[in-house]
Amino acid sequence: MTRTADPDIAGASGRPPSVDVLARSLAASGLPHPVLVDVARAAIADGRPDEAPARAEAFRRTLLTPVVNATGVLLHTNLGRAPVAHTQAARAQTVEFDLATGERGSRQRAVGQLFARLCDAEAAMVVNNNAAAVLLVVAALAEGREVAVSRGESVEIGGAFRVPEVMEQSGARLVDVGTTNRTRLADYRRAVDRSGADVAMVLKVHPSNYRVEGFVEDAPVSQLATLEVPVVADIGSGLLDANVPWLKGAPPAWLADEPAALQTLAAGASLVTFSADKLLGGPQAGIIAGDAELVARCGAHPLARALRPGGLVLAALQDLALAYLRRDVTDHVPFWRMVAVPVSELEERAGNVIEQVGTAGGGAASAGLRAVPTEALPGAGSAPGIVMPSFGLQLDGDHLTALRAGALPVIARVRDGRTVLDLRTVDPGDDQTVVDALRALG
Ligand SMILES: *Cc1c(COP(=O)(O)O)cnc(C)c1O
Repeated sequence: MTRTADPDIAGASGRPPSVDVLARSLAASGLPHPVLVDVARAAIADGRPDEAPARAEAFRRTLLTPVVNATGVLLHTNLGRAPVAHTQAARAQTVEFDLATGERGSRQRAVGQLFARLCDAEAAMVVNNNAAAVLLVVAALAEGREVAVSRGESVEIGGAFRVPEVMEQSGARLVDVGTTNRTRLADYRRAVDRSGADVAMVLKVHPSNYRVEGFVEDAPVSQLATLEVPVVADIGSGLLDANVPWLKGAPPAWLADEPAALQTLAAGASLVTFSADKLLGGPQAGIIAGDAELVARCGAHPLARALRPGGLVLAALQDLALAYLRRDVTDHVPFWRMVAVPVSELEERAGNVIEQVGTAGGGAASAGLRAVPTEALPGAGSAPGIVMPSFGLQLDGDHLTALRAGALPVIARVRDGRTVLDLRTVDPGDDQTVVDALRALG
């Protein structure tokens, strides 16, 4: 039996070790003492003081941790969607302060005017996410009234975000229009004109995370705009401009069916709502843009106060909006930088990784480490069913747990019994981490 320096820690004296002594012995984990006391107490209570270090490490791994996303899913919801770098000094900031007058200003002004400009809209405002944006718009425009929604769009978009429930929470009444597979302008017109109708708005929801194919038809925004009630389009994914002017060349094929804010507003939507952390490539937030009077009603609703973002998010969104206005998106927005990398460059990086793993990476070599073409996905429900060409690495067998074990965990995918690391979602600066993780495979 090996003896530790302090017999009380090992319990070798026959008595249970002291919680405090055991907690102090775990100090190298870097966790705060009160957390270590909890870990130590639980381990002692279970009669397993020897497990305390492993339990402290297990706790550490429950904390938010940066990882290398090698899944090939660019906007991985479980990994925080769009990766964003943002730092700012610990200084006061003009979150609600007008420098010109020295008086209180609007939290929405700076970012609102920039996104209005980007969407060619009269006004814009920001809330915590797109679910909040839809909730606020419906509450502000249709509380106690009706909202017409196509049966084909009365969907669940993500964990517990269902259109009928948003209506209920907003105090609006849902009016189902058309059928699940086909809804025409005439169906909306009938709903708006029927006797006793009190339709305050039409809500058009982009079916982000699924696709209905075959005998389907829906009424485009340009047709809905001929109705006498405002049309609000939840475009979800946050593509700003269908022409994607910040990328060289034609818009990528995988974006073909994605609605864009600029074109949806130009087609006649009164408001659009979208996420900031999907195709926009920013921090978690929701953007409402369009008619100034309707945006003002959203801003004046009591829910707006509960849904407002903080200064950190506003500053990150401002940086993002400025990058779009400067068109240097592929330099400053990691999501679009990942999109823009040519497959040939990914292939070259895959070759370099294999070369560096070399013979030292016995485990990886015996698992048949090789470079392979892969298919990356936009993710976060954007462009469902569509893939983009990519390149990566493949190993026989499931090595996911081992790849996650490092100080900077690498998150990969298993397909058909093989581990795949897609390099499109890996920052080139993290290739060395991938090399190290592959070398460490037993
Ligand atoms: C993603 C999505 C939402 C939810 O947006 P969050 O920013 O995640 O709250 C709502 N509507 C559509 C159409 C979406 O694609």
